[in-house]
Amino acid sequence: MRDFTADHRWLSVNTATVRQQHGQDWPLLQILDACAARGIRAVSPWRDQVQAAGLAETARTLRAHGMALSGYCRGGLFTSEGAQDDNLRALDEACTLGAPCLVLVVGGLPGALAGQPQHKNIGAARRQVTDGIHRLLEAARERGLPLAIEPLHPMYAADRACINTLSQALDVCDALDPGRSGALGVAVDLYHVWWDPLLQVQITRAGKDRLLAFHVCDWLVPTTDLLNDRGMMGDGVIDIQQARGWVEAQGFAGYSEVEIFSKANWWQRDGGEVLDTCIQRHRACV
Ligand code: ZN
Repeated sequence: MRDFTADHRWLSVNTATVRQQHGQDWPLLQILDACAARGIRAVSPWRDQVQAAGLAETARTLRAHGMALSGYCRGGLFTSEGAQDDNLRALDEACTLGAPCLVLVVGGLPGALAGQPQHKNIGAARRQVTDGIHRLLEAARERGLPLAIEPLHPMYAADRACINTLSQALDVCDALDPGRSGALGVAVDLYHVWWDPLLQVQITRAGKDRLLAFHVCDWLVPTTDLLNDRGMMGDGVIDIQQARGWVEAQGFAGYSEVEIFSKANWWQRDGGEVLDTCIQRHRACV
């Protein structure tokens, strides 16, 4: 297992972690500058942040800083109308930015995210998701841009993602890419999968070629908001080092991407303080 205690060369910052400070949006280009100033070598930006900053300008700034991406957030939402076209745009943006993969949050029951679920058939939603990934996979192959299915915690099954375990995500990978071409894999976000009794087994099943991204934060006790109360590494109950050991045992050698949505705590602080804390905790707790 790699030693993270001496430096932070394998730290990536998911830019949602510092997307708003004291309730104000922190512009993406400023986030990139602040990361670069701290020797953070990689980020994973969100599409809305890129759109606000401009795609070409974002790409230029990344190049100027010699900064890599650990992923691009996000595509998916396959049960929403217009998903395919939007996902194709996301793929093209990911290519322009040099992302190693497009992260897929696959969607739940149609309409549920807007508060109006159109039906209760989660099995049908799951089939729709698999069909959507199948269709997008072709375009991903053409562009040489892998798709990373991110299983989300079951509390999001209705509205955000009806793929809820690594096992389920890997079943889709097996069905759509049985030859393990590298075009389809998973994003292991510990916030979503830490509790799974099959976590180690499924990480082993995924293997190096399907482990496309590794996201870290912590699960707070108590958790006070289902979406925006993620903890800083070390503040909760996830054994992050054990899980990193499992992915690295498969040969994963990429970035540990810090992804924290924290309305009441980290989004209320100075961005620089949050980034400094990410570096510190990456060394101590990841
Ligand atoms: Zn994630």
